[in-house]
Amino acid sequence: MKLRDILKDEKITVSMEVFPPKTTANYESVEKAALGVAALKPAYMSVTYGAGGGTSKHTVKIATDIKKQYGVTSMAHLTCVSSSEDTVKNQIEIIRDAGIENILALRGDIPAETEFPMPGQFKHASDLVHQIKNIAPDICIGGACYPEGHPEADDKTADIANIKKKVDAGCEFLTTQMFFDNSIFYNYLYRLREAGIFVPVIAGIMPITKKAQLARSIQLSGCCVPAKFKSIVDWFGDESQKMQQAGIAYATEQIIDLFANGIKNVHVYTMNNPEVALGIQNNLSEIIGK
Ligand code: FAD
Repeated sequence: MKLRDILKDEKITVSMEVFPPKTTANYESVEKAALGVAALKPAYMSVTYGAGGGTSKHTVKIATDIKKQYGVTSMAHLTCVSSSEDTVKNQIEIIRDAGIENILALRGDIPAETEFPMPGQFKHASDLVHQIKNIAPDICIGGACYPEGHPEADDKTADIANIKKKVDAGCEFLTTQMFFDNSIFYNYLYRLREAGIFVPVIAGIMPITKKAQLARSIQLSGCCVPAKFKSIVDWFGDESQKMQQAGIAYATEQIIDLFANGIKNVHVYTMNNPEVALGIQNNLSEIIGK
């Protein structure tokens, strides 16, 4: 199924992200965790793409298995930063031929100390969107957006103007970077609409269930952490079960607030942890009908 058809429904959705193994050696345990999330039958699932593309076949395999074994619609992420145009073209064909109907088109993070773009490389996610449209026009394409601004952007206005280019190129929906303060998301959504961007915007929620995960998430995304959440991590961070419970509760509260403010679609970054995904799903059981 194409995500455009899921997202046009009036129903609220909770979808989930998983990642593929970094090496073939741990393929089985990672796939087991990803399929553990699929067993919960979220509205759809997305499978990330290793930065260098070296584990691309795992992304496609896991996205295929999610669909085959659990009947859950899947989406493969695809980045272009570390690949030649030919490699990207080949990868789009592989995704299409595997019957995956949705791609999250990303540039990816520029590896440190490399010249970018090299000749024959795409420079922006919007270039990748154009390429997918050329090779596989039937695929439904999404892109990433950043409520607190992308770290490389000059300012938020310029960043939103670049998001508009991505949407104009054929991006049919956007999934946000994680955020821990919903008011930042509401403000961002207003600015997107004001800039003429009307595609569905899916709120990305990261349940922080380990103290170390917070530092890493901030480092990767640069997002703000409200004092309320800092206190939770300070208080419970050294006791793993308590931190997990508190992290699930915080993410649940964020999601309920989003739904209560008319946001229909939430994507949970599960970090391949079925227990966390189940905790959130159980907390929302009446609201999402599961
Ligand atoms: P772009 O949309 O190309 O934007 C990157 C920067 O370039 C921004 O500052 C933007 O303002 C600017 N820009 C864009 N277009 C133009 C233009 N036409 N002219 C001038 N400037 C422009 N990374 C992975 O490696 N694998 C994944 O699976 C993955 N999944 C992700 C999922 C989500 C929901 C999110 C939010 C991020 C994900 N990332 C992933 C991280 C992402 O690849 C990085 O944040 C990366 O730095 C930017 O990718 P992008 O697709 O947003 O790039």
